[in-house]
Amino acid sequence: MKNIAVIGSGTMGNGIAHTFAQNGYSVSMVDISEEYLKKAIATIEKNLGRQVEKGTLTAEAKSQAMTRITTTTFLKEGVKDADLVVEAATETLDLKLKIFREIDENTKPETILASNTSSISITKIASVTKSPDKVIGMHFMNPVPIMKLVEVIRGYSTSDAVTKTIMELSRKLGKVPVEVNDYPGFVANRILMPMINEAIYTLYEGVAGVGEIDTVMKLGMAHPMGPLQLADFIGLDVCLSILNVLHNGFGNPKYAPCPLLVNMVQAGHKGVKSGSGFYKYTPGSKELIIADRFRK
Ligand code: NAD
Repeated sequence: MKNIAVIGSGTMGNGIAHTFAQNGYSVSMVDISEEYLKKAIATIEKNLGRQVEKGTLTAEAKSQAMTRITTTTFLKEGVKDADLVVEAATETLDLKLKIFREIDENTKPETILASNTSSISITKIASVTKSPDKVIGMHFMNPVPIMKLVEVIRGYSTSDAVTKTIMELSRKLGKVPVEVNDYPGFVANRILMPMINEAIYTLYEGVAGVGEIDTVMKLGMAHPMGPLQLADFIGLDVCLSILNVLHNGFGNPKYAPCPLLVNMVQAGHKGVKSGSGFYKYTPGSKELIIADRFRK
């Protein structure tokens, strides 16, 4: 495996491209506008630069990694030579199905098609391709160059051979792959999202404030970040959509999103990306300040 195509150059796509390029793979990064691709290249350059500053990467290795990445806004062009395509576009079912139909039509028969989706069914995505046996979930964690886990999701028809290839490839990237089956939320989000939802319910019902809830989980359970801060970091809209997938997929009311979460998303308070959620964020500042609404 030599040539990797990455579809989407946002938060996850640029991290995935960075990780493959740093490990010697040629990467073709695809997005819908040159502006997004330029931004992604600048982000990769900055993040590789940080590794050089820390002494974990040589300046030579950084420039070699950068030369391995090409960009295009033409999906067909970007995927034609790929041995593996990793799709990391926006988390919308219809968009993913459209992209997979297009990738399927424009890749070699042996190309493996992976999705980095957080919650959409791999089996559903695979159903629009000619060979569902070579479709798999490759769920990287954010930030990709730093986080070790890759949740490798086997769809209903994913073959043993494709699963083995992706497990081995993940190890070659210095990651720790974990194989799981394709059911709503897989493993990571099936466990994480109910915890986040329960933290929001705890706040909503007035049991404790934002700071108290996060402190209990940080100091009591040795979590590096409290669940409310983590929800802000992931994006409250993303948390809501994953909870909806769990709720619809299992039909169990225990996954129903907390009304406070629904209200916050509807009001545009989506966490770090919108500047406010449970905390408020100002660019360049790392200070954690509780949002005015939740101050006592
Ligand atoms: P993002 O919004 O930062 O980036 C998505 C990118 O996809 C954008 O640059 C957008 O322009 C591009 N895109 C949209 N339509 C496209 C198309 N037709 N062709 C090519 N590119 C297109 O989103 P993200 O946070 O990077 O999430 C991407 C995927 O990764 C989602 O499936 C998400 O569930 C998953 N994921 C996200 C995280 C996270 O913490 N953000 C973690 C794990 C998995």
